Amino acid sequence: MIRVKACPVGLLQANCYLAWNPETRKGFLVDPGDRADVLTAFVRENDVIPEAILLTHGHFDHIGAAKTVGENWKIPVFAGEKEAPVLQDSFLNLSGRYTRHPFTVKADRLLSDKEEFSLAGYRIRTIHTPGHSEGGVCYELPEEGILFSGDTLFERSYGRTDGPDGDHEEMMRSLGRLLSELPEETLVLPGHGPETTIAEERMQNFAVFELRERQYL
Ligand SMILES: [Zn+2]
Repeated sequence: MIRVKACPVGLLQANCYLAWNPETRKGFLVDPGDRADVLTAFVRENDVIPEAILLTHGHFDHIGAAKTVGENWKIPVFAGEKEAPVLQDSFLNLSGRYTRHPFTVKADRLLSDKEEFSLAGYRIRTIHTPGHSEGGVCYELPEEGILFSGDTLFERSYGRTDGPDGDHEEMMRSLGRLLSELPEETLVLPGHGPETTIAEERMQNFAVFELRERQYL
């Protein structure tokens, strides 16, 4: 069974996740947001051989260490296809506003909605979830019952939509899609804060009232 550990890093304590197959030690990283030194040590401590980096979206606090960590292990960076402009623009990725050294990241592989691929022997499905950022995605591992939800779905809450590429309407549609389409027992691993499940969020998320009103749920 897959192992997943979180390592919160940086100014906004974004969760970087390390997921791996305990038999082969092969794995992948989700959102290495900052502190390449800390994350490199974290991967080594857990004795994992990373195969790729998955980015849920292009904001600085989720991508800040992607380039260095990617180069350390010579592994590709994956992101949603519509997020390429955000990754490559220090105004849109907010590093120009919140960091002393603005930066950009280039993805090696751009994924479309519902695109599937395998890493470390696990099937991964891309779900395009605009709202927090235009090309943001979640990554579902259907056989493992896990969703990496980025800054779309949080425990009892959801990601801000007031950034340069945010859109509240789109966020409601994305949340409606996640909460109505995914199995209730799915473990949700968000970009910030504690883990939760689809069942809990269907009942208690802050968006539920509005989603019902819009008949998205
Ligand atoms: Zn964000």
